[in-house]
Amino acid sequence: MIVIVKNGASREALKELTDRIEGQGLKIHMSQGESTTIMGLIGDVSRVDIDLLRSNSIVEAVRRISEPFKKANRKFHPADTVVEIPARDGAVKLGGGEFCLIAGPCSVESEEQILSIARSVKAAGAHLLRGGAFKPRTSPYAFQGLGTDGLQLLLKAKAETGLPIVTEIMSVDKLEFFSDVDVIQVGARNMQNFELLKELGKCQKPILLKRGLSSTIEEWLMSAEYILASGNPNVILCERGIRTFEHFTRNTLDISAIPVAKELSHLPIIVDPSHSAGYARFVAPLSMAAAAAGADGLIIEVHNDPTAALCDGAQCIKPDAFGELTGRLSGLLSVMGGKR
Ligand code: PEP
Ligand code: MN
Repeated sequence: MIVIVKNGASREALKELTDRIEGQGLKIHMSQGESTTIMGLIGDVSRVDIDLLRSNSIVEAVRRISEPFKKANRKFHPADTVVEIPARDGAVKLGGGEFCLIAGPCSVESEEQILSIARSVKAAGAHLLRGGAFKPRTSPYAFQGLGTDGLQLLLKAKAETGLPIVTEIMSVDKLEFFSDVDVIQVGARNMQNFELLKELGKCQKPILLKRGLSSTIEEWLMSAEYILASGNPNVILCERGIRTFEHFTRNTLDISAIPVAKELSHLPIIVDPSHSAGYARFVAPLSMAAAAAGADGLIIEVHNDPTAALCDGAQCIKPDAFGELTGRLSGLLSVMGGKR
């Protein structure tokens, strides 16, 4: 971190500032130019309050040189993290060159619905089954999910198909019901629920961390850092579209987040084209784009009867469209060859 001192700062004010910085356990490399004084802060600057430094009357500017996230940072962990999800038919790997397909309805609605969808997505090549039991809905009057009954139905689908399950947690007090869940999803609206992130960091289960609706990539990686810093290394990032001025799609898929997150972090990153697009007809092209840009996988909403879906019907594709898409993705991935 670099602090540029204002011209004409008094000796006393400079001494007060350096004492304050050194008092935080940091060393200072002072560079006194003809007109500018620059301080290089050496040591662990992660606890430095940048805004407080900036507000000091003799400080002209403060620049960060290293990113505020350490454990999620590729600089300190150059190799890709591969998250392994145990499964009946062999572990599913996320990251490190594998391509993972997660598919299923937005919400679990009934036994018949989840079993039927689980069977068809498995037949089409899905590696994991998704389905919400606790749903974060904008309206309190909309379907809120089947709760713990929904989790039981997911476990039934897992027992029959062998597909590990991915489902969303909304609050810490429900964690006790997630012991048989294979991957816990933190939804976009909870990306900065730091108490939840800290608690999820205490287990070793894979955590699918969606990017917040209006979060920067740095904020997203800082949320991943919460889970990692609490002791859980199994974090999977998920880009699900962000809010922009564009209304033709539900969100704007930030394709650039894939190479950027991969450059900054060693964590695997998957894409949710369904919540990005908002409409089923855009799901296939966005999926192909994500695979081409280097995503480690996709999480796609698939419903056997989208027009009757209790949640997100407009963006759910049907099982046959999912099957067609997996075929096209295999073609693309084999042309791309090698590592993502
Ligand atoms: C979901 O996956 O159904 C969901 C609610 O996603 P998001 O948190 O990305 O909106
Ligand atoms: Mn949904």
